[in-house]
Amino acid sequence: MSLLRAEGLGKSYNSEIKVLKDIHFEIGSGEFVSIIGPSGAGKSTLLRCINRMVEFNEGKIIFNNQDIGKLNKKELRKVRTNIGMIFQHYNLVPRLTVIENVLHGRFGYKTTLQGVLGRYTEEEKERAFFLLEKLGIADHAYKRCDQLSGGQQQRVGICRALIQDPALILCDEPIASLDPNSSKVIMDHLKSITSEMGITCLVNLHQVEVAQNYSDRIIGLNKGEIVFNGTSKQLTQEQIQLIYGSEAKDLIMV
Ligand code: ADP
Repeated sequence: MSLLRAEGLGKSYNSEIKVLKDIHFEIGSGEFVSIIGPSGAGKSTLLRCINRMVEFNEGKIIFNNQDIGKLNKKELRKVRTNIGMIFQHYNLVPRLTVIENVLHGRFGYKTTLQGVLGRYTEEEKERAFFLLEKLGIADHAYKRCDQLSGGQQQRVGICRALIQDPALILCDEPIASLDPNSSKVIMDHLKSITSEMGITCLVNLHQVEVAQNYSDRIIGLNKGEIVFNGTSKQLTQEQIQLIYGSEAKDLIMV
């Protein structure tokens, strides 16, 4: 079943250069899909067009049968509760505790006043602890986030996304700031979120090998265009060359 569809998506930040050109793809419910491509290819822009953190200029994004481009502010806020997001630099509030940061994920469900006052139900708090437990960081619940390692902070970021109860999680370079061990922990968690909870993950990655190890499908971007859309097995060295151009020689494993 299709959860997300892009139809002729186009984006330019200024009128001169098109950062995304005629992007078409379809992602099914429960799929784990990576977007790879060189720096500046448009990966981050593409991800951010999906929840309109970046406004696109052309085409359509259809999420859960809703035309995202047509939503007004209130409708968009509602749809965004269904789309979690994970960032390279975690985007946590450093001086707040782990549990407070996780509960922030419920913000979209609250009135502004409830949100500002930090009013959360017992059920929400229990769910937050359950998720922290699941991600193996419940022991840190009352620590300030800035006392945690990068890998631990990213796990808080994942809990914050999960507590939204999303159908889709967008992950923008989730392991780019992490060492290999922490990266593996994060990727394993993201993968199990898809397989165990049925949540669709769309992940921007810089590492081809990681994309190949974890993804049901890989989308390759080059200069704002999709030049590959297939399974890990279909991603041959020629395809990697096509996606990365001259950078490919550093990426192809021999
Ligand atoms: P990637 O994630 O693949 O590195 P980005 O989506 O970040 O690519 O960037 C694609 C292109 O859009 C780059 O040329 C970048 O300089 C440009 N770009 C990204 N964000 C902005 C912005 N806010 N204003 C103007 N240009 C931008």
